[in-house]
Amino acid sequence: MRSAARLLSSLCENLQERSRGSPLPFHAFLELSATKPAFIFRDIFQVFHDMVERYVGEGVDEYPDDPESINYVYYDCSKLFIEGTDHPFFADRLFANRFVNHVASFRRGAQQNRIYIFEGPHGCGKSTFLNNLLLKFEHFANTEDGVCYETVWRLNRKELGSRPESEAHTLLVQLRALADEDPLAPVGETRDRFMGLSRREYLEVPCPSHDNPLLLIPKSYRKQFLDELIEDGAFKEKLFSEKQYEWVFRANPCTICMSLYNALLDLLDSPSRVFAMVFARRYQFNRRLGEGISVFNPGDKGPKSNVLTNSFLQNQLNHLLRDSNRVRYIYSKYAKTNNGIYALMDIKDQNRERLGNLHGIISEGVHKVEDIEENVNSLFLALMNPEDRDKTGETQSFSDRIVYIKIPYVLDYNTEVRIYKGIFGDGIVRACLPRVLQNFAKVIISTRLMAASAGMLEWIGDATKYHLYCDKNLHLLKMDIYTGIIPTWLTEGDRKKFTAKRRKRIIGESEFEGNAGLSGRDSIKIFGEFYSTYAKGEKPITMEMLCHFFRKNKEVAKQIPEGFLDSLVRSYNYAVLQEIKESLYEMNEEQIARDIQNYVFSINFEYGCVERCVYTGEELEITEDFLEGLERRFLGPSADKTQMKSFREDVQNQYTSRTLTQDMLVEGKDLRQTELYASLHERYIHNLKEKVMEPFLKNANFRSAIKDYATDAFRTYDQRIRHAVSFLIGNLVGKYGYTEQGAREVCMYVIDNELSKAFSEK
Ligand SMILES: [Zn+2]
Repeated sequence: MRSAARLLSSLCENLQERSRGSPLPFHAFLELSATKPAFIFRDIFQVFHDMVERYVGEGVDEYPDDPESINYVYYDCSKLFIEGTDHPFFADRLFANRFVNHVASFRRGAQQNRIYIFEGPHGCGKSTFLNNLLLKFEHFANTEDGVCYETVWRLNRKELGSRPESEAHTLLVQLRALADEDPLAPVGETRDRFMGLSRREYLEVPCPSHDNPLLLIPKSYRKQFLDELIEDGAFKEKLFSEKQYEWVFRANPCTICMSLYNALLDLLDSPSRVFAMVFARRYQFNRRLGEGISVFNPGDKGPKSNVLTNSFLQNQLNHLLRDSNRVRYIYSKYAKTNNGIYALMDIKDQNRERLGNLHGIISEGVHKVEDIEENVNSLFLALMNPEDRDKTGETQSFSDRIVYIKIPYVLDYNTEVRIYKGIFGDGIVRACLPRVLQNFAKVIISTRLMAASAGMLEWIGDATKYHLYCDKNLHLLKMDIYTGIIPTWLTEGDRKKFTAKRRKRIIGESEFEGNAGLSGRDSIKIFGEFYSTYAKGEKPITMEMLCHFFRKNKEVAKQIPEGFLDSLVRSYNYAVLQEIKESLYEMNEEQIARDIQNYVFSINFEYGCVERCVYTGEELEITEDFLEGLERRFLGPSADKTQMKSFREDVQNQYTSRTLTQDMLVEGKDLRQTELYASLHERYIHNLKEKVMEPFLKNANFRSAIKDYATDAFRTYDQRIRHAVSFLIGNLVGKYGYTEQGAREVCMYVIDNELSKAFSEK
């Protein structure tokens, strides 16, 4: 039995060590500050910033060399909002950029005296967002990388001349008082605790405001002291010059620490004896206890009094300091989240009052607790529905302190798809043909966008030029941009006109979108219906099913912009046609290079002669037929003799006047590195791709071979068709994520709808 008790007590010691570690004496803490200054010199904003940076990491720019980039990048927020949470929150690209940019400002020091209100409509997931964010902060702050220290005093009884007998007397008085106050108090247990505490050689007094122990270095000496303490020159440079570190030199310790310091100095008459009683311990954030993180719901009733005390500690202090008025252990509930996070879930009911009470605290950074001034430097966060904004009754001076961050419905279709996957599982990807899921998301998002976009109109002008790829409101183009994609079907001119200024304007429009339309909850419900209706057996879910579903669902259909579904189908047709062309086309780079070099060489000779090509080493019989054969590869099969002749002259001209004389002889380039070669190469490939569609258009066998693929009947087709079909389906599966069955479906779709024709007549 005794060994079990001993075991338990050693377990308890271990648990305590692990949770908080032993407090560090002040000198050891200063040593730590000198060796790891970037960790110790952090206020709540800096720690919060580091947390987001740790979990989100660097963004990914899909167009790294784009000179007009506005750094609208992809952030992987899954570690911050999804992993290890009860309910995942999916941040779309727009919100992730907004959020990360705000948090980045925390390291620039522009954050104090602000409250950040996340404003979003019902069903946008904002409470999930805040819960997950706070959960991750709590986790991070309790890891080595998120460590923060707070002040705890250990008042040495012997040093302060306390006599044991008088201590016993005080204790007795206290116990009686306690029993009077609360007859149900477990007296034995309490007595044991008190006895244990008062028998210790020191009285532990934690700073209720969680002050960084650095603040105990008197302000007027701090700069010089830190200059000598820290050796890392680069860090010092930042510490002394950057706004983010201003607090180090400006902040005062709380009134309790300050008065304790002064009282002890009077009693002990030696700063070093006072500092010997200062310790630094880990600041333990605990949302459930309201330590470091407090979250209030609109229905939470406030306590009767905002003033908190600790009569046991106060009595002990009075006794030890021999003066009952020197140190008043009195603080407010705001102290518990000083250097921490104070959050309001929804500005309604009681929380509206709480927000009102924050006005003075946020503006001034201090407030009164009875007659004592308490400093409060917290990260203030809140959530709000847009319709509640007018009801806050905020004054102008307070509204200047509020930073609104929009958290609307998801506007980026990849994120919308991720939500469906999160709820219905990855099986939905296999159940749908590629692109169908994204297109489902696009239909949902189309209900959330403004009909007209001034930014898009100013950029593109007349939308009808893109009617094959995009809807008349340019919603499809806008969704691509929100998702981080610059579509390839844009003309060169429009691509060039997509300047940083225009990008900022268009991304900026997202601040006003996603407050209406189908909510997050709606879209999940609708997707559930769609999926259960069409996911049956082996047959993949197609675009036709998608259109059918939305057209027959009248309630949803009336929210979709007019003509949007038709445009979506056209853009889908264009995309799958491109996939098929790419998948049919076999690139034979060696053959292409040989043809181009032989051609450039031969056009400089008379017809009929036989020459060895200096580039390829091949012996060529240069005839009109030979040259025309090659020219058809550059100009397409329908080129006539005049076109070929003029093309030949142009190429020869360019070759003699520039390529050979300048690029090759002067600059020492290889023929294959020249501009002429590049332009011939591009023409060649373009025509190859156009040609690959011929079997689709002309050969009925091709269609039935696709149908019979992977059956016995497939073997009856001739070798050329078998090769082409296998190659096509293999590529669709390998490059574009189709299943074999899906690949066949999409080929039939392209053939039966004569898509190749539809897009070649443009
Ligand atoms: Zn303090």
